[in-house]
Amino acid sequence: MTEQLEALRKKLNSAISQRQTIESTRQEQVGALTQFIAKLSLVCKGIDIELDNRLAGFRRLLQNGSNYKELSPVIHELNTLLSRHEANVDAQYRELQASINQAGVRLQQRKGLPDESRRTLRELLNKHLANATSPLDFLPLFERLVNIYDEVLHAKEKGEDNTNNDDIKHFVTELTQITSEVSVQGEFAELVRTIKANINNASELEQLLNASIELMRIIILSLGKERRSAQHFLASLNQSLADLQQILTNTTDKSRKLDSKINDVYKQIDHNISELSMSAEKATDISELKVTVESRLASLTEQLLSKEQLEAQQRDALQEGLQSMQSRVNDLEQQVESYETTIERQRIMSMQDSLTKLPNRLAFDERLEIELEQVRRTNSAVSLVVIDVDHFKSINDKYGHSAGDKTLLVLATAMKKAIRSTDFIARFGGEEFVIIMPNVDIGNVVRPLDKLRNSIKGIPFKFKNEQVQITVSIGATQILANDTALSAFDRADLALYEAKNGGRDRLIIKK
Ligand code: GH3
Ligand code: MG
Ligand code: MG
Repeated sequence: MTEQLEALRKKLNSAISQRQTIESTRQEQVGALTQFIAKLSLVCKGIDIELDNRLAGFRRLLQNGSNYKELSPVIHELNTLLSRHEANVDAQYRELQASINQAGVRLQQRKGLPDESRRTLRELLNKHLANATSPLDFLPLFERLVNIYDEVLHAKEKGEDNTNNDDIKHFVTELTQITSEVSVQGEFAELVRTIKANINNASELEQLLNASIELMRIIILSLGKERRSAQHFLASLNQSLADLQQILTNTTDKSRKLDSKINDVYKQIDHNISELSMSAEKATDISELKVTVESRLASLTEQLLSKEQLEAQQRDALQEGLQSMQSRVNDLEQQVESYETTIERQRIMSMQDSLTKLPNRLAFDERLEIELEQVRRTNSAVSLVVIDVDHFKSINDKYGHSAGDKTLLVLATAMKKAIRSTDFIARFGGEEFVIIMPNVDIGNVVRPLDKLRNSIKGIPFKFKNEQVQITVSIGATQILANDTALSAFDRADLALYEAKNGGRDRLIIKK
């Protein structure tokens, strides 16, 4: 009997430790989910307010150690929200599509449009645009392209065959500017570079018309690609969440069934123990008691064994659930991460000039607004500087467009080095740069800007074995409390104009 009791004690101990394993497995599952949801909330932040709220609620539930039964419906809700968001994205795309289509149709209706362009445009609008589009920043670019196209066409009709050089120069500048603002990736970026080179080598309006159409084509095609990637992300996120929910439901069901079986066994054990103590109380004959106790102990041992088996099953089921969940959560995390990097890359690319890696015009506009606000609020001194490379076209003309590109990169790097770390420099477009100098009074810009001008003048450029000196003209002004972005910029631009007219390679200040 002591042996049997000893065995019983062991069984009880192991039963207790198994319970603990089950508990910690549950904890692990909840932990994994919590981490994932925290990450998901970060990525989805700002996409949809309700989605934000739901995810926050979900996180709270997990932190409070909710069980699966409560989690399952919440995941279901998340699914619904994500689907709705997918529909929202779609609606936005369709709106954008409609605007681009309108602009294109306007262009199609223009008299004098070459047949070839009309065909390309028709195909673009009917075929590619139908399954394309994305971020709204592309729309203004597209509209500008349409307008330029319109103007080029107009110039072409006006001048017939004798091409006007001033016109070409003007359109080349405009189109080059647009190419530096089209931020696309991969094969499209390569195409944009080729088009940019074509634009700069263009000698006829016809070539510029073709380049505009090509740019429109790239915008539309890359929009389609991007849209598909956003939709793909949302769709796979949704699928993974649905899978996760299914796993949770299965695990919960299994666990619940086993739970009730285990409870039954517990009741039997309880019953046996009370019977045991009752027979001990009532017993008069020691040998009779021995028989009763032995049979009770035998069935108790059996019951504990079956309880142990059931709990082992439950533990396995939970662990299996945990494994599939973990792998689902890992999938989700990977999807979220790769989408995150795409978004981040797009954000950086849309704020950065691809040639010089300086902030671009969009970034400059944003920063200028911030500084304007600062000046209005605190009346602090902020100087605004516009820099234009002198006779840059002749570099392109004499040494080729790619030499021009390299020169721009060298100039940008030199300027960035010449300014203070608190100054903000951006490529405004073409061979024009802008600097915002916070906390610098206009009275104090001469020294640093002359230093910058001279350091550029001192760069020993060498093209085709020829020593070449490059200079810049600079216009500067201080931002006033009653300025708008435009009025401040115009003043700096006027100063630059005077610097050019005064003979270039100089700094002019306008207060
Ligand atoms: P100015 O002294 O009056 O400023 O003369 P400029 O030749 O510099 O002025 P303009 O604005 O007429 O010409 C600027 C040229 O810069 C036209 C265009 O070919 C060239 N350009 C603009 N962006 C780029 C670019 O990204 N790469 C290259 N290689 N050239 C560019
Ligand atoms: Mg210029
Ligand atoms: Mg210039």
